[in-house]
Amino acid sequence: MTYKLIDGKKQAQIVKDEVKERANYLRGTGWQPHLVSIDVGDNPSVSLYISNQQRACAKTGIDFEHRHYSSTTTQEELLASIHSLNIDPRITGIILQRPILSSLDLEGLENAIHPIKDVEGMSSVNIGNIVYGDSSLGPCTSLAAVELLKSTGLNLRGLEVVVVGHSEIVGKPVALLLVEELATVTICHHGTRNLAMHTRQADALFVAVGKPGLITGNMVKPGAAVIDIGINQVDIVNADGTHSTKVVGDVDFESVHEIAGWITPVPGGVGPMTVAMLLRNTIVAAERQKKLYEKNLE
Ligand code: NAP
Repeated sequence: MTYKLIDGKKQAQIVKDEVKERANYLRGTGWQPHLVSIDVGDNPSVSLYISNQQRACAKTGIDFEHRHYSSTTTQEELLASIHSLNIDPRITGIILQRPILSSLDLEGLENAIHPIKDVEGMSSVNIGNIVYGDSSLGPCTSLAAVELLKSTGLNLRGLEVVVVGHSEIVGKPVALLLVEELATVTICHHGTRNLAMHTRQADALFVAVGKPGLITGNMVKPGAAVIDIGINQVDIVNADGTHSTKVVGDVDFESVHEIAGWITPVPGGVGPMTVAMLLRNTIVAAERQKKLYEKNLE
């Protein structure tokens, strides 16, 4: 089977170009989109996310401000800081970098961010809004995964879709977004008795588990679109016997690409598109705040 690679970087660039235009327009009306990133403690992978986000913001005309807190910062101190950002009219978006220290209550912090400034779409309000058909500030990774499926040109209405993984931030929102598109959605998880039986029925297969190689070629329907959301760092042994690490998804690309009609690579698939969705959400949030401000003046 000849597969087509779903190029996340190319799709992300299309979104970034649109974001740049909208940011430019907003600036012209006196509104500068301004994103604040909060991170707690020292985690090298978080530092990498932050520098990627900072670069992407600079290229699209969004101000980016990084606020770093030491690992001794308390929940109350962080809540106070989020509250001051919520009421500061200069700040249009807030991100709380993950993973967060286990001593802190992540859900409590996420839900403290005002939903209109929650550009990661992680608050209960923004995830809950999807149930009511409003995904305008939905979770970035879920939006990214669904956008990549749409980029294939497949008609989602009536499509048999299987989502593997049912986390609050990826699997469940992906399934809800697809239901909104009138796809027929099956969600698989730890309790699923025969995973392959379900995945083999899927015209489109989303995988968000965190287990490298979980999905192999014999579990995929010929011609299916496969969206690999997993990001896993694995050890590899080089030809000279030395060891190094490599980033892979949850899908065994080697066996699946021979069966699938479309497939996202890892890296270069959902990851870059997730950053693009964060930028788009940041613009949506700023536009919404401008509208609300103008309405209050009437
Ligand atoms: P998570 O919270 O650990 O959720 C994993 C899900 O997989 C759970 O619902 C779990 O079900 C299910 N699961 C575990 N083993 C399974 C199995 N054998 N068969 C079927 N389902 C199984 O992880 P997450 O935050 O959703 O992230 C999932 C993956 O996506 C990770 O690799 C993560 O790094 C990646 N990710 C990527 C991006 C991106 O930008 N590309 C963003 C976020 C996450 P139970 O709860 O029933 O055990």
